[in-house]
Amino acid sequence: MSDLSQRCLAAAARDSERPTAAAVDVLLQEAAAWGASDVHVSPESGAFRVRFRLDGVLSEVASLPRERLPLLVQRIKVLAGLLTYRSDRPQDGRINAEATPAGVELRVAVLPTLHGEKAALRLLGHAGPRRLEELDWPDHAAEALTGALRQPQGLLLFAGPAGSGKTTSIYAALRALAASGERACVTIEDPIEAALSGVDQTEVDRGAGLGFANALRALLRHDPEVLFVGEVRDAETARTAVEAGLTGHLVLTTVHAGGACEALLRLRDLGVEPYALGASLSAAFAQRLLRQACAEAGPHSGCAACRGTGYRGRLPVVEVLRPSPALREALLAGAGVGELRERARDTGWEDLATQAEALLASGRTSAAELERCLGLRVPGADAARRRSG
Ligand SMILES: [Zn+2]
Repeated sequence: MSDLSQRCLAAAARDSERPTAAAVDVLLQEAAAWGASDVHVSPESGAFRVRFRLDGVLSEVASLPRERLPLLVQRIKVLAGLLTYRSDRPQDGRINAEATPAGVELRVAVLPTLHGEKAALRLLGHAGPRRLEELDWPDHAAEALTGALRQPQGLLLFAGPAGSGKTTSIYAALRALAASGERACVTIEDPIEAALSGVDQTEVDRGAGLGFANALRALLRHDPEVLFVGEVRDAETARTAVEAGLTGHLVLTTVHAGGACEALLRLRDLGVEPYALGASLSAAFAQRLLRQACAEAGPHSGCAACRGTGYRGRLPVVEVLRPSPALREALLAGAGVGELRERARDTGWEDLATQAEALLASGRTSAAELERCLGLRVPGADAARRRSG
């Protein structure tokens, strides 16, 4: 049994009045202390499996016998203000920072599964949104982003899969844009991840008929300088966002695409006119967060400092695409991703793989991370490093 399982059960045993609450307190306290971003509590036939997401990767940290703590998920539902008598449908809620010993705000979702309700908790952190300089972006990307944010208008695309850090980057950008108070900043998000001071944030509400496309039209009537559209995934939102970027607005949005060139093609596939896209685009960013090899005593498979994972902290890699005349022409001519990449490389574009390979070569991450985050196989790289280390 894991150390954390034992501590949860010990806390429950000590508190005969409210054993489940005591165990949940220990779990949340530990999650905050470990710097986990998420906690998953999954029911299985005999136990609740507890996993923490650490540096972007889930790992099992405890398994709690159901006969000892049958009401574990119920307790989480109580804290989150969810309907405890309903266990047959998904529910979402929040836990205020004051309601937990961990002192962090949590977003909670529960879902009925085969063996009962599962809970997923997102720790929203106490520090609030990061500053631009806290993103630790490589210099070339940080400079490109700062430069783009100074522009009065244009489209800024952020690409990358879930967990690649794009929302964190956009929040840092919005925080910087709102700081002066001189530019009206409005957002439409799904969902709002954190409160941003000085920004008017709205949330998609499909039940009430508020989707990205009509919310975006409503936002434009609020005389904004800066717009953040949570995601562009339909033709109307895509076209409206591109037009807004051409008519005096700075528009930030995420696109479901792996890379910066792919993000442009995704918008073209959604029916955005290539000429308007090329004219509106200020920059496209794509990023990944690679886990950083633990620096304690060279390459190893885990120590107390990295809690046995072999990794501590994360390293962003970011590709930046700024449209050159040749790239715009290629876009107009209907070029595919290979040709867009060629035109980008002509102007010094460095892709994610090249940056990740440089981090691997300097021993700051592992070949396994390149494969996990970018699907890159580097045969024998980790074995070679282990031999030399
Ligand atoms: Zn270590």
